[in-house]
Amino acid sequence: MRIREFTGQGWLLWLNVRALTIYPFVFYRDKRPGVKIRAHEAIHIAQVRRNSWLRFHTRYLGDYLRGRLR
Ligand SMILES: [Zn+2]
Repeated sequence: MRIREFTGQGWLLWLNVRALTIYPFVFYRDKRPGVKIRAHEAIHIAQVRRNSWLRFHTRYLGDYLRGRLR
């Protein structure tokens, strides 16, 4: 599936994250996200595709709730 990226997402501040992947969407807090964070989110995209949507997002949410989401 084609990925759609949304930048300048100020609401991510509420979640205290700089980026969030909800496949096939990737949200970035910055208007111009850097190469590093985009590469990091690309890893999550690969994880969703390798596992399943539900499996990935369940784990991702768990990581977020444990404060490990970066
Ligand atoms: Zn991450």
